[in-house]
Amino acid sequence: MRRFKIIEKKIQENILILTIETEDGGPFNFEAGQFASISIPGFGAKPAFFSIASPPAWSNKLQFTINIVGLRTKKLSEMNVGEILEVNGPFGKMRIPELEMIFIAGGVGIAPFLSMMREIKEKNLDRKATLFYSVRNPSLILFKDELDNYNKTQNLKTCITLTDEVPSWVGLKGRICPEMVNKFINDVQDKKYFICGPTKMGLAMKEMLMQMGVKEENIDMEAWG
Ligand SMILES: Cc1cc2nc3c(=O)[nH]c(=O)nc-3n(C[C@H](O)[C@H](O)[C@H](O)COP(=O)(O)OP(=O)(O)OC[C@H]3O[C@@H](n4cnc5c(N)ncnc54)[C@H](O)[C@@H]3O)c2cc1C
Repeated sequence: MRRFKIIEKKIQENILILTIETEDGGPFNFEAGQFASISIPGFGAKPAFFSIASPPAWSNKLQFTINIVGLRTKKLSEMNVGEILEVNGPFGKMRIPELEMIFIAGGVGIAPFLSMMREIKEKNLDRKATLFYSVRNPSLILFKDELDNYNKTQNLKTCITLTDEVPSWVGLKGRICPEMVNKFINDVQDKKYFICGPTKMGLAMKEMLMQMGVKEENIDMEAWG
């Protein structure tokens, strides 16, 4: 268990973007793609799990993107800069692989992929990744400027799609589907796929990829909610 201080909180729609740093200033060791548990004051032994959105390159800082859905996430959203949280971990098997990566994110499921893309950018790693990011409407897009900037690099690409009907939106529309994947990815079978988001979406995406000929061993999924 490690003590962290809240250093920044931002609320976008119903999403808390929380940044914390180690109280002792030392690094928190983890791999991009992993998650941690946070013990929330007043909730005793029932911690909540969240994917880490920051890269290991940020050393003593961790960032999380948190849907405010119940009592613990509401309490977290009401805490103030300077307050202390206890964090355990890291956990989880998602890692930056050697193969070219395709990320499929639903809502705050973007967190582990932000961590991996940020790590690739900050450490200038020789890896290629494409993110498909599905949200209902533009107000729910997290870190839009940062994601747009990845499209100016050679190795990182982001494709944002909206599932609500938004007439002013000129980008991709509708759920992630085989046509959308095929439009941006050549040789779909040779890649490593990661899916993160609501369970129903995760299962549908996994089935879609397998129907497209992707082997199950090349699909990693983390789903909740
Ligand atoms: C490995 C792992 C990683 C996770 N990473 C993240 C993350 O990065 N960001 C994040 O926001 N959540 C993440 N979660 C989910 C998060 O742990 C729960 O949303 C959180 O514990 C809810 O706590 P609560 O007390 O606020 O709500 P609870 O009281 O536990 O739940 C309240 C109600 O909301 C529903 N609910 C719970 N979670 C969701 C959800 N995500 N969306 C919609 N409805 C929900 C429940 O079914 C319940 O009806 C992760 C879960 C796991 C297992």
